[in-house]
Amino acid sequence: MKGHNGEIYFDAKANQLTRVREGTTESFTDPILQVDRQYANLRTFFIEQQIELLPTYRFAVFVNPKVILKLYDYPDYERVITGQSVPPFILEKLAKKHPTNLTETNNQSLSQFLIEHHCERLSPILERYHILWEDLKKGIPCPQCQRRPMIRERMRWQCLACGTRSTDAHYPILYALALLMQNRLTTILVQHFLHLESLEATRKLIKRAGYIKFGVRKAVYYSHPDLLIITKSKSGHKTIESGHKVSKSGHKRT
Ligand SMILES: [Zn+2]
Repeated sequence: MKGHNGEIYFDAKANQLTRVREGTTESFTDPILQVDRQYANLRTFFIEQQIELLPTYRFAVFVNPKVILKLYDYPDYERVITGQSVPPFILEKLAKKHPTNLTETNNQSLSQFLIEHHCERLSPILERYHILWEDLKKGIPCPQCQRRPMIRERMRWQCLACGTRSTDAHYPILYALALLMQNRLTTILVQHFLHLESLEATRKLIKRAGYIKFGVRKAVYYSHPDLLIITKSKSGHKTIESGHKVSKSGHKRT
């Protein structure tokens, strides 16, 4: 799925997809190559999990209704479509071609299985979309009326607008921050974001929420345990962990 708007065309000379919007031209990754790569990963996952492979079609779908596709020169133009054409395509072309293969129950358990194995993808979101830290709305929104910020009072969050009190309103915000920050929360960052009084109170709050501490002194950061499975394979945590591994195996060899 692609959210681009503007005119998308294929530059056959440069062999690149290009977007023209408000007078500027930019090129981007070929979505068909991308979806084929994703399909290869999905197929490997299905095989590993011993799930029977179903008929699969790979398309790049541009979902922004303002997009204009001009892909006559693109070799795979039939596989690049807009969001509106998805339902008729499934109903008219694919459904007729393939008789029902899965029972309703099997279908449900397969989708449940995929949801259970879903992993969040961590990427430097702010950098990628050129969003400044200053532009983020800070403070905890009230779970009842959504107004910010809630005030910390006697170990609870209090909404000054509607009077709602909460003990755990910070959980979703901490998790969202962990996603934004590649699973590295520092006390200063959280204190600033949640408008907390002291670093010590912030530290306690993060620890009580179940975050795991990494690093020492000024390099301390906290990670959400559920996201470690992803960040482990990324640069940050790897440095620390593989560092240990290297020294251990080094000892064994000598
Ligand atoms: Zn409220």
